[in-house]
Amino acid sequence: MTTKRAVIVGAGAAGLSTAEDLRDRGWTGEIILIGAEPHPPYDRPPLSKQLLAGDEEFEFVQLAPPESYEKRDIDLRLDTKVIRLDTENKSVHLTGGETIVYDALVIATGVEARTIAAAEGIAGVSTLRTYENAINIRAHMKRGQHIVIVGAGFIGLEAAATAIKKGCVVDVVEPAPSALLGKFPTELARRIEGTHLMKGVRFHYGQVVEDWNVREGQIESVTLSDGRRLRADAALVGIGTVPAVAWLEDSGLEIANGIVCDSQGRAAQDVYAVGDVANWFHPLLGGNQRIEHRLSASEQAQMVAAVLTDTDIAHLDLPFFWTDQYEEKWQSYGYIHGDSEMEIVLDDVDANRLVALLRRNGRTEAVIGKNAAKQLIPYRRELRNAAVPFQN
Ligand SMILES: Cc1cc2nc3c(=O)[nH]c(=O)nc-3n(C[C@H](O)[C@H](O)[C@H](O)COP(=O)(O)OP(=O)(O)OC[C@H]3O[C@@H](n4cnc5c(N)ncnc54)[C@H](O)[C@@H]3O)c2cc1C
Repeated sequence: MTTKRAVIVGAGAAGLSTAEDLRDRGWTGEIILIGAEPHPPYDRPPLSKQLLAGDEEFEFVQLAPPESYEKRDIDLRLDTKVIRLDTENKSVHLTGGETIVYDALVIATGVEARTIAAAEGIAGVSTLRTYENAINIRAHMKRGQHIVIVGAGFIGLEAAATAIKKGCVVDVVEPAPSALLGKFPTELARRIEGTHLMKGVRFHYGQVVEDWNVREGQIESVTLSDGRRLRADAALVGIGTVPAVAWLEDSGLEIANGIVCDSQGRAAQDVYAVGDVANWFHPLLGGNQRIEHRLSASEQAQMVAAVLTDTDIAHLDLPFFWTDQYEEKWQSYGYIHGDSEMEIVLDDVDANRLVALLRRNGRTEAVIGKNAAKQLIPYRRELRNAAVPFQN
């Protein structure tokens, strides 16, 4: 029985997983979960997929039924922002003046969508990070509407696929010379782009938006750097993210591409970080890596809960993510490096199925599949067996 208090800052997937897992692993003390958003924890991957495509509401994305917080005795505080961490006095300061003392602190504040200053405040222009963002963009995605997407990353392309399915006219504006540059192997990125082109998406590479043209406060068109003007009934800015660490400025924690942690998520004495905001040391890599994948968020949360409750966890798994675009479900397991060599080991055009292995120095480091969840299983097993066991 412990009377210790765990404070978790950030009520997203990683924060909630930490709270639930702590309780399930026998933490008997207080668990306080603090979130800046007005909603209880919800899932973000569907925001650019099912939620954007359908007419579902909040219940569709919520991660836990409302009654579960009371059942697990998790003190969920919403609409509450933590503005400062004082590691010396082991406390966090909230907006409104309250201070909460912790025995263990877990930081799960995620990332914020990168914005474009010139577009801020214009109606019809949005990023896609929150439930509100998705509902806002969805309202514009109607047949015949022109949607401009700035950024040909995963979120931009998922939104493009959804907009096309809904009968919109879609322009993707990207400063780089191709889609998913540096995020996915070139050959596979080209295939994804090919599907988009076939479906009617228009790509404008090597371009930025020079002017956001507005009528009565609402976006009307954008002017590209080459002078062309594109009609925009709405625009989505999908140009990446920044770790939500501004509130940690004077905390003494090491901040470098997120919160620097050891291989168990420890950032300082009794302070841990999990999820998108956390830059963990990874024994397999021999270095640190910040991972913005949904499953990593839960996994890291489980590991930190295991450390705090001194219970076992089986394995440190490799990064896994997926992206759904049209009828293509891509999955990636392992590490994608810019200098990996790729071998396509299955390319079934009729089934629209593909499996590719990524190697460096003769060692397989990742497997990527399209519509190939079953076919990936043996490769995933092989890669996982090579992973380093988690040392508690
Ligand atoms: C549109 C979209 C689609 C995605 N699709 C995929 C996908 O297909 N596959 C995949 O693997 N991953 C996907 N992801 C990534 C995945 O959703 C994230 O990896 C995951 O949400 C990370 O969870 P988190 O809890 O670390 O961060 P978040 O979900 O960002 O939660 C952090 C929470 O902390 C709150 N917060 C921040 N600062 C403070 C503060 N100072 N005080 C209090 N609260 C604070 C924030 O408001 C937020 O609610 C997608 C993400 C988005 C946005």
